Amino acid sequence: MKKIFILGSTGSIGTNTLDVIRNYPDRFKVETLTVNSNIELLEKQIKEFNPSLVVVRNEKSAEQLKRSLGNSIEVLSGDKGLIEATRRNNYDILVSALVGFAGLAPTIEGIKLSKRIALANKETLVVAGELITALCKECNSELVPVDSEHSAIFQCLVGEKSPEVKKLILTASGGPFLHHSSESLKNVSVAEALNHPNWKMGSKVTIDSASMMNKGLEVIEAQWLFGIEKEKIEVVVHPQSIVHSMVEFIDGSIKAQMGLPDMRLPIQYALSYPERLCGYLPQTKLPEIRDLSFFEPDYKKFECLKLAYQAIECGGTAPCILNAANEIAVGKFLEGSIRFLQIPEIIKKALNAIENHRGPDINTIFDCDRQTREFASKLS
Ligand code: MG
Repeated sequence: MKKIFILGSTGSIGTNTLDVIRNYPDRFKVETLTVNSNIELLEKQIKEFNPSLVVVRNEKSAEQLKRSLGNSIEVLSGDKGLIEATRRNNYDILVSALVGFAGLAPTIEGIKLSKRIALANKETLVVAGELITALCKECNSELVPVDSEHSAIFQCLVGEKSPEVKKLILTASGGPFLHHSSESLKNVSVAEALNHPNWKMGSKVTIDSASMMNKGLEVIEAQWLFGIEKEKIEVVVHPQSIVHSMVEFIDGSIKAQMGLPDMRLPIQYALSYPERLCGYLPQTKLPEIRDLSFFEPDYKKFECLKLAYQAIECGGTAPCILNAANEIAVGKFLEGSIRFLQIPEIIKKALNAIENHRGPDINTIFDCDRQTREFASKLS
């Protein structure tokens, strides 16, 4: 029986993880759940999954929950509570599913305890890839990706030797604006950007998919996760989201992992690896899908993707700046204070203005993140 800690249990990855656990009650047990402020859903989850500990980041909501639950379960609060919970040695797998930079610090605690990290929070590797991969080696902690593309590559690489890998091919759905002209992108609404054709996800990652920044962040994530140079990572647009990603080998052979776009599959694999569990998920019926198409991304139209490659090229804290500026810009777009095409503008300004530090330590990364947020918040 594996004991599971879910960072972010009421989000899209969190609720899908709980659905997997619900279907394999003899294999997985929920130990800890953490939420930002959605205590209504958390209470339901507590009733069903009976964790030993919960953390609510928002202090007010934490107080409210304590009043409602009495002493029946331990409730911690704030970022401090989050760190304290991840430091307890009472779980086997940490599902890292917070959104954005906030996922970094608690994930580090899980690594230090040599836990398996089921990694859905791509920002952990985007902002601190070098540090995190070194720390995982040192602490003997295993990073198993939950992001569907990285799970696909991870699966394609099982049993293969790394010198025989020629390149990784990340697929991208292209999002809701795949067929929009650059001109028409100027005036797209928040609702249009949130209307993803294939995947149901949280709002931040859905906007990132619309701008293709999501794919840019995933290229950075793949670079660290698989220890491969950016020249060997290719992005292809694949609107059906059936091929989740591919690996090409030196002999010209290409392996792909396929399936319906359903996050429960990569989540389940990250929990059960190296085993596979008998599927309760909907089966892929290829004749119903009929066509699979692939083409090159338009780097001119999706400037965010280009900026992500530039950030890798610059190295140091550039990916951290890119990520922080993007988080702020996406927040502004969602609240309606900037237009869609201002997202890459804000990122560009931040990359130009904020000093890049080479070989950053963890404090430098936290400083860079804070400084970039301050800077980007003032832009409009
Ligand atoms: Mg993905």
